Amino acid sequence: MLTDDERSAFLQSIARVRQRAAQALWQAQGADGADGAVAFIAQLHRGLDTVAEQARATGPQPACQAGCAHCCHLRVEATEPEVFHIAQHLRAQPAAVQADALSALQRHVATAALNPTHPARQACSFLVDDRCSIYPVRPAACRKAHSLSATHCADQSTTIPQNLRLLVDAEALMAGTALAYRDQPLPASAHELNAAVLAALADPTALHRWHQGDPEALGQDPHAPSTQPHS
Ligand code: SF4
Repeated sequence: MLTDDERSAFLQSIARVRQRAAQALWQAQGADGADGAVAFIAQLHRGLDTVAEQARATGPQPACQAGCAHCCHLRVEATEPEVFHIAQHLRAQPAAVQADALSALQRHVATAALNPTHPARQACSFLVDDRCSIYPVRPAACRKAHSLSATHCADQSTTIPQNLRLLVDAEALMAGTALAYRDQPLPASAHELNAAVLAALADPTALHRWHQGDPEALGQDPHAPSTQPHS
């Protein structure tokens, strides 16, 4: 829970990120069009990685370790530029890697569709041998996710102890960047990761339609809950 002063500082931080990002995004689009707008999302990701490193250096140590993947079995959300960024990354992989990723995405989406109102914990389709197979381009939600207690994660606790400073700084970066995209205006809203990447790969017109401002370029996300554990 934030105090009034902390909330005010948080909103000012979002506004600063929005202003800086809108200017840089406008330049990136001017140089490279839709591809520039997609590539710009890497700046958010670098900022989040820096926030996480600073939090580790100064705050309580996260319990997260390579090979621990409890949070990769929760619903994960990503914005349009993140989804297209991942789709471009996959398209640059060897054919066999692309085919495996496509099969995993299709299995994930088909399984989720069996029980859309009460989805079971399901491994992210990019989780391979308990490692993230798209680690360099994983979305902001995954970069922000952390836990101060592996036991809470293993027990599937509804409350995971986290570093509040890291969360606030990460949220400011994510919210300010999303607003900067919308200022262009380019849609930047939350989509279930697996279904959205599958949609981006399946429809070669999706990137162009998003860059034209189509809010349904990746389809609708009819099962999006209002609050997410990993978003
Ligand atoms: S994208 Fe990677 S880090 Fe994120 S949930 Fe999937 S496997 Fe885990």
